[in-house]
Amino acid sequence: MSETVVIAETKQGMLHSVTAELVSAANALGSAPTVIIPGTSDSAAAAVAELAGVGRVIACVGDCFSTYDAASWAKAVDTCAPAGIVVCAASQNGKDLASRLAARRSISVVQDVVAIDGSTLTQPIFSGKAMQNIVLSGDAVISIRANTFAAVGEGDGAEVTVMNQSADIATAVREMIAKANERLDVAEADIIISGGRGMQDPVNFVDLERIADALGAAVGASRAAVDTWDEIPHSMQVGQTGKTVNPSLYIAVGISGAIQHLAGMRTSKYIVAINKDAEAPIFKHADYGIVSTWEEALPILESELKALLG
Ligand SMILES: Cc1cc2nc3c(=O)[nH]c(=O)nc-3n(C[C@H](O)[C@H](O)[C@H](O)COP(=O)(O)OP(=O)(O)OC[C@H]3O[C@@H](n4cnc5c(N)ncnc54)[C@H](O)[C@@H]3O)c2cc1C
Repeated sequence: MSETVVIAETKQGMLHSVTAELVSAANALGSAPTVIIPGTSDSAAAAVAELAGVGRVIACVGDCFSTYDAASWAKAVDTCAPAGIVVCAASQNGKDLASRLAARRSISVVQDVVAIDGSTLTQPIFSGKAMQNIVLSGDAVISIRANTFAAVGEGDGAEVTVMNQSADIATAVREMIAKANERLDVAEADIIISGGRGMQDPVNFVDLERIADALGAAVGASRAAVDTWDEIPHSMQVGQTGKTVNPSLYIAVGISGAIQHLAGMRTSKYIVAINKDAEAPIFKHADYGIVSTWEEALPILESELKALLG
């Protein structure tokens, strides 16, 4: 039988109790496993080392483990984990990681295993209406359902090795996306400043963001802006095929006021429109209208807000 490797289940950097069941499953496959702990610190490693039946422990540390991402976790774990039968928890992330790891290693994946007898694995199929037996003939990644194997108790303490997996580009991109997502969603905001095609370039949305930051507002967009510029995501779109919003204040900048846009924001308590065309339909629905280019109007609005809000 091949070596067994357990990927410890962690939650917010802490060891999840199901890990003791994974060790038990690995023992049923015939060997004391190497336990890999994906994490940002090696503190959870000591707890695993105390479990009975553990061969050795590898604390696989790195920035990429701060938030779950299948691709970078699988890459880092793949580097740390020796070849063999890999055992993960059948949690949402565990099953995801199992598939990724199996694909990276070009080996089979067996999900939701509930029993092990030698090299025979049992998994439920057809929504649990039947059980299927699979005989392993080589390395594989298997995920184990919680509460199906008795947790192992305390052991003598296994050797712990720390392996550092440094950050990669994917981690940096994820952090950037996470930061971008910190901005308030239009559906939740009480104040929204939206830009339309009249903003002329997605870069100019920075001007809207500065005002949004001053007001604690969300930045929205018209469909024309979303459709024209890849940089403006659909999550920002207000209107019939975007989000319906109902803020206290809606500021429409360079937006004509098409019926489909109005459908998503006309119930706003106060509507302010900035448009260089005095005939733009948005003015018929605005409580306050500023006939001007945004290039002229936004700096004045920004400095007035700064003076007002301190
Ligand atoms: C089935 C369907 C669903 C749709 N769903 C949506 C939806 O959910 N949301 C949505 O928004 N649209 C939706 N649309 C599209 C909608 O019909 C309009 O095409 C869209 O709202 C127009 O966006 P806009 O106002 O940004 O662009 P435009 O109509 O091109 O208006 C740009 C405005 O900017 C002004 N402008 C130009 N330069 C400046 C400047 N320097 N300073 C100030 N103002 C300037 C112009 O005077 C003009 O009024 C939908 C359409 C269809 C057919």
